[in-house]
Amino acid sequence: MFILVAVPVPSLDLLTYSVPDHLEPPHVGARVVVPLGARVVTGIVVERHVATEGRGEIKQVKQVLDTGAFVPPEVVALARWTAEYYASGVGDTIPALLPPMARGGRADAHKTTRIAAITVMGAEAEVTGKARAALDLLSGAPTGVSTPELARRGVSSAVIASLAKQGFVSLRQDRVDRDPFSAHVAISATGSDPGLTPVRPGSDPDRPLTPEQTAAVDRLLALARTGEFRVALLHGVTGSGKTEIYLRVAAATLAGGRRALVLVPEIALTPVTAALFRQVFGERVAIQHSGLSDGERHDQWQRIRRGDIDVVVGTRSAVFAPLERIGLIVVDEEHDGSYKQEESPRYNGRDVAIVRAQRAGALVILGSATPSMESYHRAVTGKYERVVLERRVLDRPLAAVTVVDMREEYAAEGPDVILSRALREGIEQRLAQNEQALVLLNRRGFATAVFCRQCAGTIDCPNCSVSLVVHGEGAARRARCHYCNFTSRVPPTCPLCAGPYLEHAGFGTERVEAEVKKIAHGARVARLDRDAIRRKGSLAGLLSRFRDGEIDVLVGTQMIAKGHDFPRVTLVGVVSADVGLGLADFRASERTFQLLTQVAGRAGRGEQPGEAIVQTIYPGHYSIQLACRQDYPAFYERELQFRRAMRYPPLVSLVNIVVRSRTFAGAMDDADGLVQSVQRADGGRHDLRVLGPAPAPLGRLRGEYRAQLLIKGTNRRRIREALKVALAKRPELQRRVIVDVDPMSVM
Ligand code: ADP
Ligand code: ZN
Repeated sequence: MFILVAVPVPSLDLLTYSVPDHLEPPHVGARVVVPLGARVVTGIVVERHVATEGRGEIKQVKQVLDTGAFVPPEVVALARWTAEYYASGVGDTIPALLPPMARGGRADAHKTTRIAAITVMGAEAEVTGKARAALDLLSGAPTGVSTPELARRGVSSAVIASLAKQGFVSLRQDRVDRDPFSAHVAISATGSDPGLTPVRPGSDPDRPLTPEQTAAVDRLLALARTGEFRVALLHGVTGSGKTEIYLRVAAATLAGGRRALVLVPEIALTPVTAALFRQVFGERVAIQHSGLSDGERHDQWQRIRRGDIDVVVGTRSAVFAPLERIGLIVVDEEHDGSYKQEESPRYNGRDVAIVRAQRAGALVILGSATPSMESYHRAVTGKYERVVLERRVLDRPLAAVTVVDMREEYAAEGPDVILSRALREGIEQRLAQNEQALVLLNRRGFATAVFCRQCAGTIDCPNCSVSLVVHGEGAARRARCHYCNFTSRVPPTCPLCAGPYLEHAGFGTERVEAEVKKIAHGARVARLDRDAIRRKGSLAGLLSRFRDGEIDVLVGTQMIAKGHDFPRVTLVGVVSADVGLGLADFRASERTFQLLTQVAGRAGRGEQPGEAIVQTIYPGHYSIQLACRQDYPAFYERELQFRRAMRYPPLVSLVNIVVRSRTFAGAMDDADGLVQSVQRADGGRHDLRVLGPAPAPLGRLRGEYRAQLLIKGTNRRRIREALKVALAKRPELQRRVIVDVDPMSVM
């Protein structure tokens, strides 16, 4: 028999092997050991009984590792779909399917430990001292206690060994599943760790739902009861209680004998959702995310695979979890950019989730206060059901938003002002009332550029086409590239003309933090951005300190805007709301609207009403205006006009292709070659339009030049086919071409 095998090697497609007669033919989803060039690798069987006409020599499978399917066949099929749709090799998707340690074929290498249990003899033994204490402890745990746990409780291994020798204690080796809830993650549903427990009231099954929530749950349950594939867009303003709805529908799904998969953008940023699921569904919840160790992930994967798990809560790659009988998939904050993987395969977890649900006949709930243009478009055109929550729970009002025109501030206070008068007053007032404030600026660093007053030159990254960002102050000052991490000291004079006057331009979160400290005398101010959380665990620590009231003002990037529920925050300030609007990206307005709406949604979630102060130099821009009014439908209509006029998604399909090369001319030439051959492959049918080649907006990255072409069309399959033909003609380009289907950004 011949089989198709996917091996975890980047950009490799499926490979054909023969199964020698002495081996049991493997099932789809089984792991096999196969030769690959001079190496031997472990792959997954994707298809059996394949035809082999016209192929050259076919190598033999060396070993079959599983008698059944290791990865459920439906997940193998999903990976194949993903590779096809996102134009990547199947090999790229394989790592997402396997638990970390299975890649080398050691799937069953569980961590085991010694368990001591009291015997019948032991229960009647007359002993004293340490032996007595040990037996007393064990008599309270009939199934036994692990030796490390005994050691923690002061029972030494010597005491246990001696009791075992006398027949009072039995010892066995047993598998232990590392529990990721125990130590590593800042998720504590049980309240055992006071510093990390969300202080908000948890889900209370007896708490009455609001009328809107009730109506939403009823609609969703009716959809779930059909037992068929359905997609519902749950469009609920911030604080409308969407999590509660997910929990209820998940409970009904489980009661009906099916399972639930819950995707969240970033577990560390949405620990509450994960914790609530754990609280409601207990041990049968697995949580999967990148912060887990390989061992923890491996154990969780095995528990899911064994069927011990009914609910998986995880980030994007959890869409490939080996969970069977799925009846519900929730995609929380479905608009979030982190669902898109920015390396091959460049899949969007939300969209793969929809395909998975389609095959499983499951209900998908896409939840958001600011749905993506794509999802809302499908809801408006009737492809998705639309379920709306217009009010916050307990009728808490949405934050009142004030727009500050920074041009007026500059006129009144000079060009260097960072915090407007209104924002300064707002912060001072909150501090006086013992309330909290969030201050957002979506740009890291202290100063965003250094320029010379004499020659107007800037200090740029030697590898990338961007200027270096200054981090730190005084002696700690460094200039750093945000793309390749190149770091240098800030020179005392201009490296171009030796001019002595170097000035800082622009500002980032570090500078805002310093400005807030200046006005907030003695208040506790902290910063949350990627630089501040480099150390593992520091993110969770900062968030819980803020939640516990040990921080008064938290300054940060979009990280502070996401999903948090901080009841004592009554003010949100947005410094430079227009940061993203300057980018040459078709999603610039959408992202600005989402960010502003989400961050304003962080204010006033407790008893006190909230306020948001938004500083901008474009107070009239529709994404700022409509975010301030929290008018999503108006934003959608306005943005759709732009997308239609410019032919952008959701009205057409888009593929972004970047060609990298050591020289600018090389990149442009290769991109031009691709443009020509895509056009030829399309055969002049003109259903697709190829734009380019052009230098990519980020024209140089890590020392390589980048040229770009965009393919737009209404028939995605035709785009993909034309592209496949074009790329097949230039196999040598493969390593230098990035293909991004349904891109989140075209930078
Ligand atoms: P969203 O995800 O829609 O922004 P959340 O699910 O975070 O909203 O809920 C916001 C807050 O409202 C949470 O503190 C939650 O515990 C609370 N909440 C949810 N439903 C109810 C309800 N029916 N009654 C009272 N409080 C509720
Ligand atoms: Zn760089």
